[in-house]
Amino acid sequence: MRMTDVPASSRPTLAAVIVAAGKGLRADQPLPKQFANWRGKPVLRHAADSLKAAGVSRLCVVIPEGAGDLVEEMLAGLEQVVLVTGGASRQDSVREGLEALEGASPDLVLIHDAARPDCPAEVVDRLVSALASSPAAIPVLPVVDSMIETDGTLLRAKADRDALRRVQTPQAFRFADILAAHRAWQGPSDAGDDAQVAQAAGLEVSLVDGDERLHKLTFAEDFRDNLGQGCTMIRVGTGYDVHRLAAGEELWLCGVLVEHDKGLSGHSDADVALHAVVDAVLGAAGEGDIGQHFPPSDPKWKGAPSSRFVEHAVSLAAAKGLTVGNVDLTLICEAPKIGPYRDRMKVQLAGLLGVHIDSVNIKATTTERLGFTGRKEGIAAQAVATLVANQ
Ligand code: MG
Repeated sequence: MRMTDVPASSRPTLAAVIVAAGKGLRADQPLPKQFANWRGKPVLRHAADSLKAAGVSRLCVVIPEGAGDLVEEMLAGLEQVVLVTGGASRQDSVREGLEALEGASPDLVLIHDAARPDCPAEVVDRLVSALASSPAAIPVLPVVDSMIETDGTLLRAKADRDALRRVQTPQAFRFADILAAHRAWQGPSDAGDDAQVAQAAGLEVSLVDGDERLHKLTFAEDFRDNLGQGCTMIRVGTGYDVHRLAAGEELWLCGVLVEHDKGLSGHSDADVALHAVVDAVLGAAGEGDIGQHFPPSDPKWKGAPSSRFVEHAVSLAAAKGLTVGNVDLTLICEAPKIGPYRDRMKVQLAGLLGVHIDSVNIKATTTERLGFTGRKEGIAAQAVATLVANQ
């Protein structure tokens, strides 16, 4: 039977401490990993939502100094949540969280890592069931790989895989017992986990089946698969550019010389189409804009073919492990007609981007003779580009 299926009046009250005070710097994320976005919302919010859905009433979240406003925003709308500033070690942080729950005196408490976003309700049910006959219960998984002992460099001995288990959180305890155990803890400040604190206090710790969905987000790769398992991370960028039409200039669009009575004037070869594409690629790569990389004030770029800008933007993306997915470009002008050049432009652009021609789309529109494009004073271009993370 599920916690959530038992009538509230006969259910033991279940609270949880979520430990979110760690810096989490390993994951190469701009925020500590427990606050980083993962599959559409902060990792911590996932963890809080899944515990609530599994039947936890009161939540105490232990946070780093100064993170109060940030976390309040992340957890907006959740009821019965208290925030506590963490201590110097995980151990201290958990004790602070338990102390903060003492007033509510829950029967049972889960102690959980914020970096485990998905907590299946079945695991919570198994833990709570185990607490009927044991003061402490933890989820564990078998070890699949063979295990060894080492001094860090050399193999010392084969370890007995059958005697080993991987330990996950949430770990579950009768509240009064674990609070007393933490208060009595005399060991090192990094006990590792709360099961060890419980065991040191003489509490028997039961094992229940863990779940691979409790995976702890640890490394940058864990965040790359940001859309869901088996999905590829896609980044989107947009670009927009305008250049003035002037007599006596050549008209380059997408690296193709177009016959017209006027050409585009400006920086480099003024290829407005490629400039929009460059900005879209830079945007998707998180690399600023074309002006930062190729400043108009730098004489080096005067008259330069814009193809070089595209190649540079693509190489910046590649350095981040990103390749172009597709580009959709719209040229906005009254004249010249784009149709006769469209296929050549697509070939040219696909070549510069290193993609199949099907991954490039070029559209053209007028503005019904309105505005500067309608008066044939200039040509505008806008582009959308996607970048795909290399697997
Ligand atoms: Mg430009």
